[in-house]
Amino acid sequence: MNGIFKHMAAPGAEYRTDLPIPEVGPTDLLVRVHVAAICGTDQHIYHWNEYASTRVPVPMVFGHEFAGDVVAVGESVRSFRVGDRVATETHIPCGHCYQCMTGNQHNCEEMKIIGVHVPGAFSDYAVIPEACAWRFDDSLSYRHAAMLEPMGVAVHGVFSGEIALQKTVILGCGPIGVMAVGAAYAGGAAGVMAVDIFDDKLAMAKKLGASELVNTRRDNLVQRILAWTDGRGADVIIDYTGNVGLIEEAFGGLRKAGRFTMVGLPSKKLSLDLTNAVVYKEAHINGSTGRLMYQTWYQCEAILKSGAISLDDVIGGVYDMRDFERAFADIAAGHPGKMLFLTDYGKANGD
Ligand SMILES: [Zn+2]
Ligand SMILES: [Zn+2]
Repeated sequence: MNGIFKHMAAPGAEYRTDLPIPEVGPTDLLVRVHVAAICGTDQHIYHWNEYASTRVPVPMVFGHEFAGDVVAVGESVRSFRVGDRVATETHIPCGHCYQCMTGNQHNCEEMKIIGVHVPGAFSDYAVIPEACAWRFDDSLSYRHAAMLEPMGVAVHGVFSGEIALQKTVILGCGPIGVMAVGAAYAGGAAGVMAVDIFDDKLAMAKKLGASELVNTRRDNLVQRILAWTDGRGADVIIDYTGNVGLIEEAFGGLRKAGRFTMVGLPSKKLSLDLTNAVVYKEAHINGSTGRLMYQTWYQCEAILKSGAISLDDVIGGVYDMRDFERAFADIAAGHPGKMLFLTDYGKANGD
């Protein structure tokens, strides 16, 4: 089969036409891939930074956001059949640790990740455990289904606290940030303020329902929030950047007893005046990682079926898988939106 192969522990990857179709274990599905999407994690693997070099067992196919058709099932599989259209939950839960036993499979203590710890899906075929398959709604295209996994990261953060009638600030307008804008808008927020440093990313956020756009290269974030909220501060602030300076600044725009949710991954420590920023404010701070299995998936589909937003407005580019170098270069150059790959089969299918 064809696929993007991480051939060695160094930057780059190879498009190969001679890869073996992966073997199907007893609890696995073999999926013929139509569409795959590029995640931040894939950029780490492609450019081979520290995150990747300490986790990924090269050589292997990477990529984990995808949708396709089930073409074979292992002998113990009961819930899926050949012909099912599936998207993929990236977290492989162990099924028996404390987290898994208490409804938190998405935060399993022995977590493995498709396309990071085990081979992925930038290829014609991929094998996934039955526990990671999501049969997506008939109304969704393969393109949109391939984006459900990252959309879930956005949605889980947004719905990790109250959102309806809340004045909500979304920090960061990368693909997940703009989907969070859309989720907050669809969830009935009393206005969504989108924050970034690129005007084209802010323009995308506007399409997803942002009513206020703040470019922190020009605008003072806290002043804009206070002007928007009668000086009270935002009810909800959700960070999708991991940018330490921005997070520290944004706390100044949180209202008393407001919610600050962290989804982005800061690479260094934060410095906060906890007395004023948290204690006196009675701020609620929570972290959010991945997606609930599978509550978040139902929420994502409910949002899309409501028609409140369209994932077409999040697509930044669609590439033949052979052109992967161009796709990664466009992301590195700061192009907005989610970049998708089509396999030959996806192209033949008109995806
Ligand atoms: Zn991802
Ligand atoms: Zn577990």
